[in-house]
Amino acid sequence: MRKPKKKSRLQKSRENPNSRLWMHKADRAWKDIIHMGGRCMMCGSTEYLQAHHIFPREIKIYRHDPHNGVLLCSRCHKYNVELSAHRNAPSFFINFQMLYPERWKWVCANYKIDPATKNDYNYMETYKKLEELLKVLKRQHETGIISH
Ligand SMILES: [Zn+2]
Repeated sequence: MRKPKKKSRLQKSRENPNSRLWMHKADRAWKDIIHMGGRCMMCGSTEYLQAHHIFPREIKIYRHDPHNGVLLCSRCHKYNVELSAHRNAPSFFINFQMLYPERWKWVCANYKIDPATKNDYNYMETYKKLEELLKVLKRQHETGIISH
């Protein structure tokens, strides 16, 4: 009798909703959503754009939350010593708070991580939701409902 065929690594990853495969797919979809903004949220530049996580992406429950993403140019993201999110976080947050008071409310309402929600996460499901959201956003973008 032949042994049942062993599952490939890829197959195993596909079947595990919390595998790195699904995490990376969700990362990609999240980035695409943040990039729909089309310009740096701090200075308005349309060049060298990068998606920044407000809460670090190591915090699983916010890693793929579109509220947690800010589109920044490389200067406002990493390089400028005086104002970039990575090199001068206090300055970044003060500016962000003034420019986007509604988004700031989300930050304030979510900074305490409920330990009960820590493991309540599923990358595959998140990926699927983000892909749906991305489709809607792209359609709105094409039909001109959102203009930048
Ligand atoms: Zn900028």
